Amino acid sequence: MYDVAVIPGDGIGNEVVEAVEPLLVDVADAHGVSIETTWFDWGSQRYLDEGALMPDDGLDRLEDFDAILLGAVGHPDVPDHVTLRGLRLPITKGFQQHVCKRPAYLFEGVRSPLRGYEGGDIDFVVYRQNTEGEYADVGGREHRGFDNEVAVQASVFTREGTEKLLRPAFEAASERSGHLTNVTKSNAQAHGMVFWDDMVAEVSEDYPDVEVERLLVDAASMDMVRRPDEFDVLVASNLFGDILTDIGGGVMGSLGLAPSTNIDPDGTYPSMFEPVHGSAFDIMGEGIANPLGTVLSASLMFEHLGEDAVAEALWAGVAEQLADADAPRTADIGGSARTVAVTDDLRDRLV
Ligand code: ATP
Ligand code: MG
Repeated sequence: MYDVAVIPGDGIGNEVVEAVEPLLVDVADAHGVSIETTWFDWGSQRYLDEGALMPDDGLDRLEDFDAILLGAVGHPDVPDHVTLRGLRLPITKGFQQHVCKRPAYLFEGVRSPLRGYEGGDIDFVVYRQNTEGEYADVGGREHRGFDNEVAVQASVFTREGTEKLLRPAFEAASERSGHLTNVTKSNAQAHGMVFWDDMVAEVSEDYPDVEVERLLVDAASMDMVRRPDEFDVLVASNLFGDILTDIGGGVMGSLGLAPSTNIDPDGTYPSMFEPVHGSAFDIMGEGIANPLGTVLSASLMFEHLGEDAVAEALWAGVAEQLADADAPRTADIGGSARTVAVTDDLRDRLV
């Protein structure tokens, strides 16, 4: 039995999680795996009502769960940095979720905006550093000054934070094609990024079977649309990984399909699984959000929990549905179906 904390959050996060959660429970059950979910109504509405996105003891309340499923957080009336610092950052940092692993996979039946690519051609996974780098909070060092003429924003790269991201990435590369692309901007940033490169060189000594390619982030961005089929495993800092994985969502045909994970590689704390997309208030309340990014994130959750059969069933179900021209699909991938029609169809296929 697994205890899963569910934080549907804001906007379409609520809609996709409400549609997907019962499906997960049933698919897991069909494989003899039992999950129990506990829902937390944390997010921007709580901030607007009570002044905080989650309670002070939020981490204590989550700590004993086996995993966390998050919808999305973000609200037009709440500044983005408040949202980030009020919920996602405390969880990812507090639970040492150093690894943000985001696969980009072009499914058969989905049209990539890139011409000439078909199902299966694009299949890479980005390992993004999730706890520091350009998004680090270096208490007090960051500031605006000189009569508001200057702002300083520092980046922090540590051995621990970098190595905990790199080792699982090298493991994955070793199990996949043995190719890893290290994305930095070491020509322009002589400290953090060069430190990062040194860490890659050091960790790579333990993985002689993995061939390391080095790319600057500008070139990597271009290549991700020019030759996405040639990538396999990529490692990148927090900021660069953030950007590259949105390109990943783009080349796989829709941000609504892209899954994400926030993993504590040591397994001390629960890891968190969520779609890449945000709260998308432009389509909120219409019941038309694509739930598949959340289904795929849940597949990665079961994989992390060691329940490979459930993980594979969910992933294969999504692949089968997308390949079926008669199956319901949401507007972002060229259909007109509602969110629940998509999850109902998946249930018919999987349960
Ligand atoms: P946030 O500020 O929380 O990141 P956002 O408003 O920037 O949210 P995103 O989720 O980042 O919105 O997505 C950008 C756009 O992509 C949305 O405005 C929406 O139109 C579309 N989109 C995102 N996710 C989905 C989805 N699951 N289904 C359909 N369309 C989506
Ligand atoms: Mg967004």
